[in-house]
Amino acid sequence: MNYTTQMDAARKGIITKEMEIVSKKEKIDVYLLRDLVGSGKVVIPANKNHKSLNPEGIGKGLRTKINVNLGISKDCPNIEPEIEKVKKAIELKAEAIMDLSSFGKTEEFRKKVVEISPAMIGTVPMYDAVGFYDKELKDIKAEEFLDVVEKHAKDGVDFVTIHAGLTRKTCETFKKNKRLTNIVSRGGSLLFAWMELNNKENPFYEYYDKLLDICEEYDVTLSLGDACRPGSINDSTDASQIEELIILGELTKRAWERNVQVMIEGPGHMPINEIQANMLLEKKLCHGAPFYVLGPIVTDIAPGYDHITSAIGGAIAASSGADFLCYVTPAEHLRLPTLDDMKEGIIASKIAAHAADIAKGVKGARDWDYKMSKARQELDWEKMFDFCIDEEKARRYRDESMPEHSDSCTMCGKMCSMRNMNKILEGKDINILREDN
Ligand code: SF4
Repeated sequence: MNYTTQMDAARKGIITKEMEIVSKKEKIDVYLLRDLVGSGKVVIPANKNHKSLNPEGIGKGLRTKINVNLGISKDCPNIEPEIEKVKKAIELKAEAIMDLSSFGKTEEFRKKVVEISPAMIGTVPMYDAVGFYDKELKDIKAEEFLDVVEKHAKDGVDFVTIHAGLTRKTCETFKKNKRLTNIVSRGGSLLFAWMELNNKENPFYEYYDKLLDICEEYDVTLSLGDACRPGSINDSTDASQIEELIILGELTKRAWERNVQVMIEGPGHMPINEIQANMLLEKKLCHGAPFYVLGPIVTDIAPGYDHITSAIGGAIAASSGADFLCYVTPAEHLRLPTLDDMKEGIIASKIAAHAADIAKGVKGARDWDYKMSKARQELDWEKMFDFCIDEEKARRYRDESMPEHSDSCTMCGKMCSMRNMNKILEGKDINILREDN
């Protein structure tokens, strides 16, 4: 039987090879997975032209996934360092890579990334439009934006961020309800500028059916962007953000009528006490579609440490229902991340995702911690390294400060509680002062 998208297949009762792979990875029943894909509660972004893809599912009951942003820009146009980042992201097992290239040889870079990446690939076609046509933003015609989406779809990207919910009406709401940090979404601010300069409706909203045609043809998952995501904790959960979310819910239904898979993008900057309510609102207003959060960053005052502010927010968001975390690096708000920044961002996001999976009760999540704690109790350092989320750092720290007794560490030495408890419970003596063991 033929099918267009994973959602179409699921609704026809077909188990695709992608569903089989995801069900094995997640250890969930493939028929349950198929039904979740059919209902829109799980997406499997898998463009028909992404031949190197190792598919992943995002959504209800599945492990929380993480995304890594990278890409070339006018200030950093060299492809090679960004390809190194792609390789590092794959090595560190990021499930998704967003190519946010905005200038230069974007097509060459995008095609290369699709060719080498088993991780799913996302893009924001809006970023590429100016370079694609080599003309000023205001001179780009509404339909031309759709052609950029089609180009990315043909090149094999698995999901695209489209800010279709920023309508003229949302813009009016934004103007009436002043914000401290206005619109901080890059794509959202470009769209707002285009709409203001041309006095026209959002092209992605106006031509939404054409957008769905493209997504259906290539099975590109729509990641409905939140142009009005808060850029400061002052602006969170305000009228613009919520009005846009309501529109995204309506657009989700329209996409599902065409069997197009949908994720919803979310905040942004947000104080801890608002996160849980925002997760609930998204799930209610967007009918259970998977939630992809960009943070949330829980305080605005920590440039240089925003991998931590966002990991705190990400862990709370994911344990409250978010399904997909966009990494944030220590370079956020400061510069384009280096390879080291990227690694720190990935590890921080993976910790947040895993902590949330434990709280969510995701199958197998606690087993990893059990194995680590068992190795710790046994003072089996090699096993501990095996279970570390960042083995390289753990080994380096220990190597830099070796203890007198190799079973303990330099934190407590012979007062090591693990060591002494093991000895006492085995009926052995312990000594703290004597030289012998
Ligand atoms: S010495 Fe202290 S910190 Fe180090 S392993 Fe033993 S109990 Fe843990």
